[in-house]
Amino acid sequence: MRKKIVAGNWKMNKSFFEAEELIADIADALENMELTNTEVVICPPSVYLEMATDIAEECNIKVGGQNVNDNDSGAFTGEISAFMLQSMEVDYCIIGHSERRKYFSEDNALLKRKVDAVLKHDIRPIFCCGELLAEREAGHHFDVVKTQLEESLFHLSSGRFLQVCIAYEPVWAIGTGVNASPEQAQEMHAFIRQLIADKYDNQIADETSILYGGSCNAKNAAELFARKDVDGGLIGGASLKSDEFIEIIKSL
Ligand code: PEP
Repeated sequence: MRKKIVAGNWKMNKSFFEAEELIADIADALENMELTNTEVVICPPSVYLEMATDIAEECNIKVGGQNVNDNDSGAFTGEISAFMLQSMEVDYCIIGHSERRKYFSEDNALLKRKVDAVLKHDIRPIFCCGELLAEREAGHHFDVVKTQLEESLFHLSSGRFLQVCIAYEPVWAIGTGVNASPEQAQEMHAFIRQLIADKYDNQIADETSILYGGSCNAKNAAELFARKDVDGGLIGGASLKSDEFIEIIKSL
């Protein structure tokens, strides 16, 4: 049975001490919760990963990176590799977030290499896909997402693909306060699952966790997560407050 996952993308926020407090508060709250077939992931800034994995080791939290270089090592000043993430016992890595695509010009070909890089080091990619507002308004949203998956993920063998988690994040919903409706999310998630079934098979499609991201919060999470192909969420702003993040986890 596929996993339910709630992952928090902290982006470039929090001081070291604030980050430590946030993860400790989440860890405390999780102690009293029974999580069956559910994974809680936090993705702090890379400089806090070691602190996060130290705390996570003691509790029910997984840790993810927000980005990775596609090389294992070398003269790439300021970058971090999957080899380095693995050596800090990081479990997941976000790949293809729309902010990386937009501000750092990351294209599908580069993201494909990043996916390969993390899988080589037993780190699960949380692969983000999703359309711009203009693409949805033009009716191209299915084509956009299909191309993103085909060009960055569908080269993988079945065994490797099973390690991938997908996050559908319509760009117009990220940080805007305007979430996709549960119907829009379900429609795209079902489409993605069908693409996986067509490329691989029904069993692999059924095993793949597909998360929704984009202005998901404690108020709308339950309605989104109730849809049959929505297996949890990738949460930005609302993951920065422990109370709200915990409420979202409880909505699963
Ligand atoms: C994100 O950046 O992945 C995200 C979903 O952000 P927000 O929840 O703030 O829209």
